Amino acid sequence: MWITKTDKLYLDDSYLKEFEANVTEINNNEIALDSTAFYPEGGGQPSDQGEIISDRIYKVIKVYKDSDAVVHVLDNNFEGDKKIKGIIDWNLRYAHMRYHTAVHIMSGILFKEYGARITGSQIYSDKARMDINYDLKKEDLPTIEEMANKIIKDDLEVKIIYLKRSELRSDQVRVREDLLPDVDIIRIIDISGFDSQADGGTHVKKTSELKGIKISKYENKGKMNKRIYLNLL
Ligand SMILES: [Zn+2]
Repeated sequence: MWITKTDKLYLDDSYLKEFEANVTEINNNEIALDSTAFYPEGGGQPSDQGEIISDRIYKVIKVYKDSDAVVHVLDNNFEGDKKIKGIIDWNLRYAHMRYHTAVHIMSGILFKEYGARITGSQIYSDKARMDINYDLKKEDLPTIEEMANKIIKDDLEVKIIYLKRSELRSDQVRVREDLLPDVDIIRIIDISGFDSQADGGTHVKKTSELKGIKISKYENKGKMNKRIYLNLL
């Protein structure tokens, strides 16, 4: 049981690569910090990796959330000074950010054009997978791909905004309502003038950072169950 309430720096600054913090709890090779830029696994986005520097350099293998704490799993038991410096593996994180924004663009198009909802998505550093609750046809894919590339080209701003739970519109909730965090203020990822979704992940600042998108694979897993894979340039 972890009792730390970690300040999650990545929620407001997804471009923060290094930070200083204090170790608040230690359990062998796992530590909680008072604040962190490390993203813990969740919402289809994998955990960050990187380094924590104290008396020596510890490798951060995995990061997860436990209640309000963000727990960092290290390659060795932590025995160092409690003032630390954290450095995230930026190449890995930035790849996750690009694919996370790509998933939102796709999900926005699928919702607007077909009323389709996404039942699951998984982000990787070199691709993303989406499960779609709609009878999407293979013939529809080129049009969807074209729309997504138009949004990338239009260079829309991706903003983080906060809304009261009571102000949320139903189209801003693409996950099951009961999966939303039990808080009054909900974080929204808003792709200006295009898509707005409740979300806890890290995203790029402008859609042009995705460069270009391709639907690389289509799987028919049932009438209302199609799976697609995305690749970015
Ligand atoms: Zn998301």
